[in-house]
Amino acid sequence: MALTRRSALARLLLLTPVGGALMAARAQSQAPLKLSWLDPYREPATRLMQAATKDDFAWRRLAELTDTYGHRLSGSDNLQRAIAWAAETMSRDGLDNVRTEPVMVPRWVRGRESAEIVAPPRHPLAILGLGGSVATPPDGLEAEVLVVGSFDELRARPGEARGRIVLFNVPFTTYSDTVNYRTGGARAASQFGAVAALVRAVGPTGLRTPHTGSLQYGPGAAPIPAASVSAEDADRIARLTGRGVPVRVRLMMEARTDADVESANVVGEIRGRERPREIVLLGGHFDSWDVGTGASDDGVGCIVTWEAARLMLRLGLRPRRTVRVVLWVNEENGLRGANAYAAKYAAHAANHVFALESDSGVFEPASLGFSGSAAARGIIRDIGTLLAPVGITDIVGGGGGADIGPIAQAGNTPMVAYLGNPGRYFAIHHTPADTVERIAPGEVSRAAAAIAVLAYVVAEMPEQLPR
Ligand SMILES: [Zn+2]
Repeated sequence: MALTRRSALARLLLLTPVGGALMAARAQSQAPLKLSWLDPYREPATRLMQAATKDDFAWRRLAELTDTYGHRLSGSDNLQRAIAWAAETMSRDGLDNVRTEPVMVPRWVRGRESAEIVAPPRHPLAILGLGGSVATPPDGLEAEVLVVGSFDELRARPGEARGRIVLFNVPFTTYSDTVNYRTGGARAASQFGAVAALVRAVGPTGLRTPHTGSLQYGPGAAPIPAASVSAEDADRIARLTGRGVPVRVRLMMEARTDADVESANVVGEIRGRERPREIVLLGGHFDSWDVGTGASDDGVGCIVTWEAARLMLRLGLRPRRTVRVVLWVNEENGLRGANAYAAKYAAHAANHVFALESDSGVFEPASLGFSGSAAARGIIRDIGTLLAPVGITDIVGGGGGADIGPIAQAGNTPMVAYLGNPGRYFAIHHTPADTVERIAPGEVSRAAAAIAVLAYVVAEMPEQLPR
């Protein structure tokens, strides 16, 4: 579909006088001769993109994963069954050296949870406990709420938090700006004597949706229960207290952390035909939160990187270097999979010549983030010109990802992040609405196509990307 539309557009531009002039100017300004190094890759790139977008295979595989196994929280039976399925299915696809590499992971269990305003008039709150939180006493706890708009405001009112539930009512701007309240709110509140923390959902105001995610207690403060509360409920509490009305909340959470359990990273490869020791690393994280089905975060990142390798194999494209797909475990609440991978391959870190992670969804318009040397950036930008048919036109900063980070740092490896549209991604991030219905089949296919082309060229070109 995308290919057809584009060639129709190209014909139209060539046939109209203005369009023709535009194309000529564009051809001059882009100095096409300089990009002749790409010529050997144009035909395989076209075949990869056509094969990826001719049907909805990748979306159906994502639906099979999320329907059959559901959420994949670290340490859960769901995740273990899904890992076995992935390894078996990768083998059936014909990938080389398919294996599971053991990793010990934490096992946090949510249990039942609820919260309500008990005075003024009763009002149930839409909450989700934060991952890693401790429980309340079995009957819950009840306290008056202190609403603050920042860590600074909490520090400026040191006496008022004691014995209270602190609500961090910080409106979502960007994930990186706001997520600190989710990860650090409980610790800060505890340091001032609070009995629990509520954190306004880290996501745009949606349909009264709390967003879960991990917290970090850190040293020097007693762990207190903590939950995400929907933006609407946070606003209501803030308006009431703003009018001078004391708000009392009852919070009940059964959350607990069990002993670590054995899990695994899943690894499959296309062994390089000339330089098998040089690794082009692709992947996403296979674990998810325990609400929704982890479709965008990060089932789809696993499926599109795996699909990139499957497409190469199907088309008989075995590049010079090894393409390795890793489905990492425990990104959400421990990063144990990424750290275990970096430890296991520490002696081979420098052989990782390129690393790509997809952990920002595939919602369009999508772009590529790059981190690495200026020379490598230029090459990635050149390769990016092949990706216009699947909608990739932007190469921005900010490559990398939580899972490729440790090994790429050790190897000084150039990194790319496949970046879905953040507005759509963060609307459902860590919520019950993270399901496969949110994603269009074409978005999955085009992401797989773009990753396949990028990985193929980087694995096939005569020289490594410059560090
Ligand atoms: Zn993720």
